[in-house]
Amino acid sequence: MLSIIVPCYNEEAALPLYYAELEKYLPQVGEYELILVDDGSADKTVEKAKELKAKDEHIVILSFSRNFGKEAAMLAGMTEAKGDYVVIMDADLQDPPKLLPEMLQIVQSGEYDSVATYRVDRKGEPPIRSFFARRFYKLINKMIDVEIVDGARDYRMMKRAMVEAILSMKEVNRFSKGIFAWVGFRTKYLEYENVERVAGETKWSFWKLFGYAIEGIVGFTTAPLRIATITGTLISGFGFLYMIYIALKALIFGDPVAGFPSLIVIITLLGGIQLLVLGVIGEYLAKTYVETKRRPSYIIKERL
Ligand code: UDP
Ligand code: MG
Repeated sequence: MLSIIVPCYNEEAALPLYYAELEKYLPQVGEYELILVDDGSADKTVEKAKELKAKDEHIVILSFSRNFGKEAAMLAGMTEAKGDYVVIMDADLQDPPKLLPEMLQIVQSGEYDSVATYRVDRKGEPPIRSFFARRFYKLINKMIDVEIVDGARDYRMMKRAMVEAILSMKEVNRFSKGIFAWVGFRTKYLEYENVERVAGETKWSFWKLFGYAIEGIVGFTTAPLRIATITGTLISGFGFLYMIYIALKALIFGDPVAGFPSLIVIITLLGGIQLLVLGVIGEYLAKTYVETKRRPSYIIKERL
């Protein structure tokens, strides 16, 4: 059986269109269940889901008590899924259902444990967002041991074993792109051209994405802490050399008072670096704090 997981947040417009498209390919995937995870939508998403369920009894609806984010919705879907294969896809048709039969064939053939997708272009995306996205992938891949493919989407089909591996990662700060890469398994990447969402609008603002990027880095590497240590060491070394230079200069030429501008520069530079490093430490401390509280990632209000 194939479990299809769809996180939905305010998708009243897109959901019926999604199902209509998905329906065309369902006969080719055999036995399935469709898990619609309503992530605390404020619109009529749940009503639309219930209408679909009235037509198709393979639908399971999980409704969150509030908006917990897509990561939580994916986790809930995977926890609920009973299939031998599990696929995660968006409700806005940016993850084309027409790839499903091919993906299923690939994981069933046994050579791969998972089939992931990535978009070859970023058509329809603001250029500044694409620019920072590219920088982010370059940066994170330099810092972590596993590779995250640039443009990889969460649209991915996995075998049961891989889903179990993902569920065994109990962290609260979940960065799926990292988790998928971290668990390993043989993954085949299919490429496709970016499709714009059919209806509704994206839930990602620039700052939300920025926070997500920090989350990814803090969640998967402690390299920034190492960088802080190295920066501190270099600057201390530089400070020591400068001290010797000043002392010698004063001894040889006299004039110990000059240098007010350089003093200001040094104070602001060091003050800035100290705050930055404190911020980096704070990010890790904050994550540790959140993790130790062991709060559930989501709360299910209704299950149908
Ligand atoms: N989504 C969600 N919870 C959120 C934000 C988004 O479940 O808090 C779902 C959304 O309904 C969609 C998918 O995650 O099915 C991707 O969201 P979106 O299309 O806004 O992201 P983008 O495709 O622009 O990256
Ligand atoms: Mg989308």
